Amino acid sequence: MLYLSTRGHLDRKRFCEILLEGLAPDGGLYLPERYPQVDAATLARWRGLAYHELAFEILSLYIDDIPAADLRALCAKTYTGQVFGSAAIVPLKKLEDGLFLEALSNGPTLAFKDMAMQLLGNLFEYELGRRGESLNILGATSGDTGSAAEHAMRGKRGIRVFMTSPHGRMSPFQQAQMFSLQDANIHNLAIQGVFDDCQDIVKAVSNDLDFKRKYRIGTVNSINWARLVAQVVYYFAGYFQATTENGQRVSFAVPSGNFGNICAGHVARMMGLPIETLVLATNENDVLDEFFRTGVYRVRSGADTHETSSPSMDISKASNFERFVFDLLGRDAARTRQLFQDELGRSGRFDLSADPAFAQAATRFGFRSGKSTHADRLATIRETWQRLHVMVDTHTADGLKVARHLAQPGVPMVVLETALPVKFAATIVEALGRQPDRPARFEGIETLPKRVTVLPADVAQVKSYITAHCA
Ligand SMILES: *Cc1c(COP(=O)(O)O)cnc(C)c1O
Repeated sequence: MLYLSTRGHLDRKRFCEILLEGLAPDGGLYLPERYPQVDAATLARWRGLAYHELAFEILSLYIDDIPAADLRALCAKTYTGQVFGSAAIVPLKKLEDGLFLEALSNGPTLAFKDMAMQLLGNLFEYELGRRGESLNILGATSGDTGSAAEHAMRGKRGIRVFMTSPHGRMSPFQQAQMFSLQDANIHNLAIQGVFDDCQDIVKAVSNDLDFKRKYRIGTVNSINWARLVAQVVYYFAGYFQATTENGQRVSFAVPSGNFGNICAGHVARMMGLPIETLVLATNENDVLDEFFRTGVYRVRSGADTHETSSPSMDISKASNFERFVFDLLGRDAARTRQLFQDELGRSGRFDLSADPAFAQAATRFGFRSGKSTHADRLATIRETWQRLHVMVDTHTADGLKVARHLAQPGVPMVVLETALPVKFAATIVEALGRQPDRPARFEGIETLPKRVTVLPADVAQVKSYITAHCA
């Protein structure tokens, strides 16, 4: 399988080449040349496989430059009941007739990002070891991504992590998840500023090509194709649990921010998984809901980006969205480049409402969307707890709210649970007047010793920290 760029760069690359890269050289995102097709016989063979075996089957369709035995071992090492809390890895819970929750958040940091990041850690260690190279990962986080990355990379050979976060702005639980790690290869940098300052610092360091090369700086952000393809697996696993027979159709509802999670659902559907509808749910930051309703994609400014009670969906633009638009436009790379480079660069928006392709987002690609607000979130958390005795987190509540609205009779709806309530305790208390349950292994983590360095929002100081801590 070879990979191409959504903006038409001519080089075709193999999986392990794009694994350690971010954007394509022309600023586009990598996608496979074609989506491997899964027929009824294959679905029948896959139904009943253990999660790590299913992961191997799906990944091996996209990865042909890692020997099969090695890839199989990497999947088996990643997706264990010990790491993910149950043998099913992503158990399905029935809420009521036709409505299910798929648990993606029982990994080490209690958010769905562990599903892909745990595999990424093992893939990075494997590939760097094979090349005899090392990598220094520099990232910015407002919570979930940073802790998932650190827990995936801790103790890995050849990898160091430098993770910036806005000083004093993450929840105490999120801070504890990151800062309590004592591994020598993990560096927490609390920046005196907001999340945008952290992102600007990462951008500035990455744009210094000499520094980037000399200190082997890499990233783990959500545009990485390996993260996306790892997420495809749980759409299949959810499908097999929600159905008894192959061919039955199922819909998925996905709490969305950067369009990474639901883009994996799009890939699964393109491969032939019988998905009826992909329901995209946003919070008050409704960039994507606006697009699917109107055909207009309008990037928000920092001032126009709301701080909400589902903070992992607080985005101003959706970094993975270009992948879907490329497919929507019949894989026209010149047009994709014109929209994402020229039009967005010039005016911060583009408009596909008059383009016949736009109607196909719903009809051919199965997308529907909706939006959920703080009041919806509180009502959904309360109602789900009181009536069904299930506690959901704020992001999952957004998905559930929109799913209920767009469900169709006779088609099972699977809502992806993207985090556990304990990560966002303040809003749970607001909704229910009680603390969320806390898995035993997280008792008292806020009181553990912390390893963190506070730095001003200053690129030079972050660079000199990196220089001083790179062997
Ligand atoms: C990252 C995240 C999301 C958004 O996922 P995208 O892939 O960015 O669309 C939703 N919920 C939680 C809890 C997250 O951590």
